[in-house]
Amino acid sequence: MLDQLYKQVVMDHYQKPRNRGRIENPDANRLPYKNPTCGDIIVLGVVINSQNTIEDIKYEGEGCSISMASCSMMTEQVKGKTINQAKNLIHLFKGMIKTGNSLEDESLGDAHYLIGVHKFTARHNCALMGWQALEKILMLHERDKR
Ligand code: ZN
Repeated sequence: MLDQLYKQVVMDHYQKPRNRGRIENPDANRLPYKNPTCGDIIVLGVVINSQNTIEDIKYEGEGCSISMASCSMMTEQVKGKTINQAKNLIHLFKGMIKTGNSLEDESLGDAHYLIGVHKFTARHNCALMGWQALEKILMLHERDKR
């Protein structure tokens, strides 16, 4: 039953991706990111404003349904959040994939449905890649500000 719902939500994000495309803003932080274990590839673009808020975020790329759906869910969840809030969501998502433990709250939104990926170790990188790309962009952004 849960598996059925999981598939539906993943396919919905795969077929109707949110925030897919290229950010034209020249101030956008861009990062190409690859998951060699599956061949998924993305370019993540993030605009961070002076209040340390993620003003805009988009991804381009090709990959399996889990990787693309996860990027769509991730962008939907972190858009409008501060860097610290986004980091916390990344931390929660990684923990959920690695442990398979369900979260008490709704903070991950649709991304929570990817909990089923926990059982498939070979697909962990597919689910994680978008979140890892964002984590790296945030890290580089904070480093460059100093
Ligand atoms: Zn994949």
